[in-house]
Amino acid sequence: MELLAYRLGTLSPGRVLNYLSPMLNSFPLMRASSLCMQYSTGSARVDALKNVDLEIAAGERVAVTGPSGCGKTTLLLLLAGLERPTGGSIHVEGKPLSEMGPDALADFRRDRIGIVFQSFHLVPSLAALENVALPLEIAGARDARVRAKAMLEKVGLSERGQHYPSQLSGGEQQRVAIARAFATRPDILFADEPTGNLDSETGASIVDQLFGLNAQQHTTLILITHDSQLASRCSRRLQLRQGQLLEAQQ
Ligand code: ADP
Ligand code: MG
Repeated sequence: MELLAYRLGTLSPGRVLNYLSPMLNSFPLMRASSLCMQYSTGSARVDALKNVDLEIAAGERVAVTGPSGCGKTTLLLLLAGLERPTGGSIHVEGKPLSEMGPDALADFRRDRIGIVFQSFHLVPSLAALENVALPLEIAGARDARVRAKAMLEKVGLSERGQHYPSQLSGGEQQRVAIARAFATRPDILFADEPTGNLDSETGASIVDQLFGLNAQQHTTLILITHDSQLASRCSRRLQLRQGQLLEAQQ
């Protein structure tokens, strides 16, 4: 009991919920049911996702693999609440994302989701420190700059806080993006081919930082990757082919 109290005392409120959720209810962190996404451009239609069913438990590290065009990024956009599916549903701790209006969905993304993109997506007009502080400022944190500094230090870039993205290498930009994604201590971190634009040595150090922060913060990780070595560091692997999951998920 003391150990539980100690652990809860050291965790953020979101993480406390993660920790307690298996005891409080039987809902998985995320559940997608018959998830479909159809893109229509003129007369052309693409079924990017076809009846995808999956469950992700709090604290899991899930790799999503599959060839280019099979629907990986689409799945991320839907699970992260950035796009609405054209069919099926997504539940987060039993609550349907579809019932959230635009404001509630924006709050969900701000409070619970972090994303690392293949092409970094830093704000070019903001220095590294400002990029990391931005989501904290949006979330109303008074100590945004202090926390951003601490995050930059964790990814080994405390000397580069005043540098703009164009003054940083690809690997450094991705480290800033990782610091930014973890700064708000999200419950769920998505990474979309985070090493795709980097050489293998730089990619390996990026991955170490990603997994290191993931372990420190007890974040649920959903990692899209072509790299099967990287996928093998996750606790589970989902394989997509032409919009469908290859294996039945529990
Ligand atoms: P992956 O990330 O696995 O490479 P995507 O999820 O990006 O795959 O794309 C899945 C399919 O959906 C592809 O055929 C792609 O061309 C198509 N697609 C993705 N986004 C759009 C869009 N905004 N409009 C039309 N088609 C799209
Ligand atoms: Mg993609």
